[in-house]
Amino acid sequence: MMSIRVYNTMSRAKEDLVPRDEGRISMYVCGPTVYNYIHIGNARTFLNFDMVRRYLEFSGYDVTFVQNITDVDDKIIIRANEEGSTAEEVATRYREAFEEDMASLGVKPPDIAPRATEHIAEMVEVIQELLEKGYAYVSYGDVYFDVSSFEGYAKLSGRELDEQQVTVQFSAEVDRKDDPWDFALWKEAKPGEPSWDSPWGPGRPGWHIECSTMSMKYLGPGFDVHGGGLDLVFPHHENEIAQAEAHSESRFVRYWMHSGMLNIDQEKMSKSLGNIKTLREVLADFDADTIRMLMLGTHYRSPLSFSDDSLSEAHASLERVRNCLFNLDDLAGRLCGGDDDAVPGKRDDALVQFLKEADLEFRESMDDDFNSAAALGVLFGAVREINTYVDRVAATEVPSAAAADVLATARRFLEEHCGALGLFQAPASSGAAEGAAGAPDVGGLVDLLERSGVEVTAPGEKTADELVELLLEARQAARAAKDFALADGIRDGLADLGVKVEDVKGGFRWRFER
Ligand code: AMP
Ligand code: ZN
Repeated sequence: MMSIRVYNTMSRAKEDLVPRDEGRISMYVCGPTVYNYIHIGNARTFLNFDMVRRYLEFSGYDVTFVQNITDVDDKIIIRANEEGSTAEEVATRYREAFEEDMASLGVKPPDIAPRATEHIAEMVEVIQELLEKGYAYVSYGDVYFDVSSFEGYAKLSGRELDEQQVTVQFSAEVDRKDDPWDFALWKEAKPGEPSWDSPWGPGRPGWHIECSTMSMKYLGPGFDVHGGGLDLVFPHHENEIAQAEAHSESRFVRYWMHSGMLNIDQEKMSKSLGNIKTLREVLADFDADTIRMLMLGTHYRSPLSFSDDSLSEAHASLERVRNCLFNLDDLAGRLCGGDDDAVPGKRDDALVQFLKEADLEFRESMDDDFNSAAALGVLFGAVREINTYVDRVAATEVPSAAAADVLATARRFLEEHCGALGLFQAPASSGAAEGAAGAPDVGGLVDLLERSGVEVTAPGEKTADELVELLLEARQAARAAKDFALADGIRDGLADLGVKVEDVKGGFRWRFER
């Protein structure tokens, strides 16, 4: 297995990825706080870690992926109070929405998706031990972590603990804390809030303790990769480290990975700035693979400037790959159907050789801290070569039995390498831009037949595919009769219905594209 190099936020350097257990990667990525639909910035982080996970699997690792759901939090309670429902109702609704969103993006579901509310007893246990060991103290009904007791606090962020900043940040809790940088492990319940019994009275856990407790529970101490957005480094991950290492007295995580922020107009997209675009809004106009292509085009640690133009560009790139796959399949179908299938011929190895080298280059790029942008460059290089080959075979330069073999290799190459990045894994119906059934609208096709003066018996009983074929026959007939106005009219009418027609040697082919 080639070594993968990973940028570790802790050492601020790229390191060889050496897992705790050979051949296996244990990975924890902070999940959402479920009080709202996720925005496209959140989606970037989840897509980035899906890419990391998929590439690790592609490289032969057995990956265990854990992602929590924060289903108890101030924001959830505030939201529930605003709408007059319960925190549980709010959390369930947005957890389900999150799961749907991830599915429509083709993000692999986690192996384990622990919910905070189902792990309160474990959190209470960890807090109790921290108290016993002298790392925490009780104040009123709250429990706080004593930051001064943990040597190495702020080692991940390298943050100077500046007093001024903190008063602004945590003013509400300041009176109850010994030191402004101390953070809550347990919060006393206010009247009407969801709460659980504890040795310190009814209350709920703090956000940070959830992740320490659940990641240690499912992955054990010293697990391999802990991920999240760059904005979680401080204080969330810093606090996770303090709690977990104070508790286990050993290293918490081997590699800290952080995804860069998605920005809009040079500013981080965030709910508090009010500049968000929900994933659902974007999915109404662009399909899931276009969104993924956009994210893959920028290294996961770099900032990404989001705009509709950048999405359109990503869509054009994606179409190049889709067209290549389409052309491959189309040609392969025609070759298999032909009588000359058995024609003996010297195997044309040039493309096969090219793809072998492309595979190595692809892996080199991805092994270098998951450089998906460079890997895409390799993929597009392969697409160009495959297109050239397809054109050559279409002009029948290569005997088809040999060509069929090469085409199959090319298809496998595209499938596997796109799959390693998570492309084309989303369900076909994702994105409102895709027709509900993924096929042209039958009513529109019948109208077009009528407008074009084509007589069809019982058009209502025909499938969309049959109607498109009839229209294309009519277009061919119009061309043969030199009625170009009609031929072009049919072609444009089909385009309006999302049917893309391409002229190829010896005929035409079509596909539905919307
Ligand atoms: P939250 O629900 O706010 O905790 O966010 C869920 C995940 O999205 C976390 O890993 C955040 O770091 C990440 N995130 C939040 N805003 C952005 C952004 N603008 N760009 C990229 N990731 C983000
Ligand atoms: Zn976390």
